[in-house]
Amino acid sequence: MTQSCLFCRIAAGEIPSKMARQTDDVVAFHDIDPRAPVHVLVIPRRHIASVNALADEDAALVGRLYAVARDLAKELGVAEGGYRLVMNTGPDAGQSVDHIHLHLLGGRTMTWPPG
Ligand code: AMP
Ligand code: ZN
Repeated sequence: MTQSCLFCRIAAGEIPSKMARQTDDVVAFHDIDPRAPVHVLVIPRRHIASVNALADEDAALVGRLYAVARDLAKELGVAEGGYRLVMNTGPDAGQSVDHIHLHLLGGRTMTWPPG
């Protein structure tokens, strides 16, 4: 755990959040500033700064992020209507927290391409 990292501290329960799912290695919580009726962040408990820092050995962990997002999309009622999964990476993409997080956005029509 990186003490200075907001999402490490949320995963550790040191900073409150509206939890959606907790497993051995994955945590999901509702975004504090939702951009859609459903907006959940799915993160690994282990600190990984961005997609750029992923190792090939992290492939199964990344797969579990998607599996949790799939399950939550169903539970939160957006699986059929559709949803978007986004992992912003780096400044040009607007990554503002340097701990990888998969955005699950749903419950409204999305535009493409994103701004
Ligand atoms: P990104 O801009 O892709 O790095 O996404 C970071 C997301 O974290 C934003 O959508 C923020 O609204 C969200 N966020 C920041 N602080 C918190 C927090 N304390 N609890 C939940 N979500 C947060
Ligand atoms: Zn972290």
